[in-house]
Amino acid sequence: MSYFKDFNITDQVKKAIHDMGFEEPSPIQEKAIPVILSGEDVIGQAQTGTGKTAAFGIPVVDKVTEDRYVQALILTPTRELAIQVSGELQKLTKYKKIRTLPIYGGQSISHQIRALKQGVQVVIGTPGRITDHIRRQTLSLDKVHTVVLDEADEMLDMGFIEDIEAILKQVNKERQTLLFSATMPPPIKKLSYKYMKKPQLVAISKGEVTAPSIDQVYYKVLERNKLDSLCRIIDSEEIDLGIIFCRTKKGVSELTEALQARGYIADGLHGDLTQSQRDNVMKKFRDSTIEFLIATDVAARGIDVDNVTHVINYDIPQDPESYVHRIGRTGRAGRKGLALTLVTPREMKHLRSIEDEIKMPIPSENVPTFAEVIEKQQETWKKQIETAMNDDKDSEWFAPLVHDLLNTYPAEKIVTALLKRNFLNDNNLDDDGYNFGETGGAKGMVRFFINVGKNVNMSPKILIEEISELVGIPGKAVGRIDIFDKFTFVEVPEEVAPFVYEALRYSRINGARVNLEPAKPRPKREKRPLK
Ligand code: ADP
Ligand code: MG
Repeated sequence: MSYFKDFNITDQVKKAIHDMGFEEPSPIQEKAIPVILSGEDVIGQAQTGTGKTAAFGIPVVDKVTEDRYVQALILTPTRELAIQVSGELQKLTKYKKIRTLPIYGGQSISHQIRALKQGVQVVIGTPGRITDHIRRQTLSLDKVHTVVLDEADEMLDMGFIEDIEAILKQVNKERQTLLFSATMPPPIKKLSYKYMKKPQLVAISKGEVTAPSIDQVYYKVLERNKLDSLCRIIDSEEIDLGIIFCRTKKGVSELTEALQARGYIADGLHGDLTQSQRDNVMKKFRDSTIEFLIATDVAARGIDVDNVTHVINYDIPQDPESYVHRIGRTGRAGRKGLALTLVTPREMKHLRSIEDEIKMPIPSENVPTFAEVIEKQQETWKKQIETAMNDDKDSEWFAPLVHDLLNTYPAEKIVTALLKRNFLNDNNLDDDGYNFGETGGAKGMVRFFINVGKNVNMSPKILIEEISELVGIPGKAVGRIDIFDKFTFVEVPEEVAPFVYEALRYSRINGARVNLEPAKPRPKREKRPLK
């Protein structure tokens, strides 16, 4: 383990780091900082939230002198990140007379030109706006000795590659080039061969990044009652600040509306918002005036809020990398975080591939039942009622009705009715839409008919493995199995029956497409073959 004091940097910078409350370097900082200080080009790869900003920020502010011209240029994908990086660098230069200036589209260019004229040492900007300034000759890069490409993968995703190349061509060839990214897709490698000098790769592998402080859980949910399941889950968690991820913009709008309609304090973030709408939402989120931020992966880029307690994957992420990326939004700066993923039957295989990639199984939990939610909520409800009781405003209007009700009915009945009206809504209904009826299974079990049997070499072992993988239940939870020539019966626990029913339909057994139906109850005294 190393300490900041062991780095070959000035005391001014060490003191600033100390004031920021950083105790020890994060793994990427530990590995990257000495190499950067030695003057080499560096490619740093580590997941979101691992402290990449300071990994390049510390050596950069250490090297920059107080002379008033641009010495370092940092490119970031979004305006928000530019501001954020600039803020972090400012803290690092607390004891040095250095100005950092974020430059991004959407802000008046003449304002930026004026600021540049005053003499800044470090410019942090989005590639589009920086090229703009280069074209107008309002930003001189002659004396730039360090260029940083921050969140390079995201800049690429956002289509900035040409701007980046144009900028790199403008900067002194003798420069030091640093590239930081959460992922290393081929175009980034290409970019690095082309514009960097013998770059040293400093990577923190996934095993090291899936921060242990992030607890992960997945819930099996059915597509048709995903929203209800989500509500139950969030009702039974203590959430200060949560980010809920959806796959699409449309998904974000729909879920935002649905949650707002159910009384949650939620707001959505997606690519179609104007910058000021976006700023507005982000401000509410930062100030914690909203509880939930609903966002697509793209819209959530550059969000860096430290106190996110929960990341909720309403839609399962498309690939393992974005899973790691998403859950990295919580548990930041050493805080505790919880990542919850909703998984539909169709998505179970996908979940398994994520588990393979991150090299750890994600434990599953059942969506809380109606009764569990009610129990969890009692305290919250009580507090809400007590708060309302402390507020006498407008109470007198109800006085006649209060007396009338109390004279007519028992108090208990009145209170119960009011509670129900106030706190229950659709999501509290305990119905998943499935009723398999009498299927002839043992008590507590549902028996299914499957349309293949010995003809596809079905065996109890194969069937049990398939069900336990797809449904995430232990093999021994699967009940009685009867395999015939062309069909099979299997019994599974009632609570997972709807999930089994849907999941097996998306699977194959020994290459054969599977269909299943709830079985008909057995006629009395049916002869059973031995298992
Ligand atoms: P990344 O760019 O890798 O996503 P950031 O640079 O934004 O991550 O850092 C994430 C958070 O961790 C920030 O709030 C930052 O201030 C904090 N941080 C960075 N390095 C350290 C450290 N050595 N000790 C404690 N906190 C740190
Ligand atoms: Mg970063």
